[in-house]
Amino acid sequence: MSLERGFSLNLAGHRFVGYSLAGITTSIGVPEAQILFDVGQGLPWQVGFSNIALTHAHMDHASGLPYLISQKSMQRRPTPVVYMPESALDPFHRMMKIWHEIDQFEYELDFRAAKAGESYDLGQGYKLQPFPTFHRVPSLGYSLIKQRKRLKSEWSQATPQELSQKRREGVELDEYYDENLLSFTGDTRIEFLQSSMARSSKCLFMEVTYWDERKSVANAREWGHIHFDEFLKALPQIESSHIVLIHASSRYTTRELMDHLRARVPEHEQTRITLWPR
Ligand SMILES: [Zn+2]
Ligand SMILES: [Zn+2]
Repeated sequence: MSLERGFSLNLAGHRFVGYSLAGITTSIGVPEAQILFDVGQGLPWQVGFSNIALTHAHMDHASGLPYLISQKSMQRRPTPVVYMPESALDPFHRMMKIWHEIDQFEYELDFRAAKAGESYDLGQGYKLQPFPTFHRVPSLGYSLIKQRKRLKSEWSQATPQELSQKRREGVELDEYYDENLLSFTGDTRIEFLQSSMARSSKCLFMEVTYWDERKSVANAREWGHIHFDEFLKALPQIESSHIVLIHASSRYTTRELMDHLRARVPEHEQTRITLWPR
């Protein structure tokens, strides 16, 4: 982990970078798709991303936005596109107006309202699709979809010679399909799993803030978070091949969290669960 490079995680052939601790900072970037989910306080490793998706406007997830906008501008990089829940648009514009006053400089802004069920083109075959989450302030989760190409099934038995002959004849042998690469929850109650898109992503980055009896399930729900007990119960409905647990409260040591996972997650489920950061 460094301020310039962030903290990397390689999973399922993808590289992720970021950090997440409840109440402190949460931001996870996917370099291949040029997207950053939440921005934490704003750090140098985040400046290269051209798209930003904010799950909600709590400070540990979103306060770094003015810093990133000013760094982008100073480094003469293109203005980032920032997706956020609609209700955050006006407050963020007003906040930036005050920063313009303080900095005596007017930054270019491209803030866009994100809505569950819609789809936004990020370029290079990637799409962003918000899904509903349930927190104490208006919030959204996001799925990252990659458009991929594959050979149509009717050609699966053809030889390479036949295929190249058909291609020369102009026959369309390929079809496009969407791969649901990743979902990122931000802060939410467990009910986000109602979204089939979130449950079925190849990689699911989900918050589990509270882990033991020091905070009850009722506490977690009251504050719009997930308790480990709820996660365990919901685990069979999650179809993702990789589940990354983020946003643990800093009251737990990594050792405690790892012990918890080993003791309570059924053995056949252990390999698909990753704790991040460790
Ligand atoms: Zn949070
Ligand atoms: Zn929050």
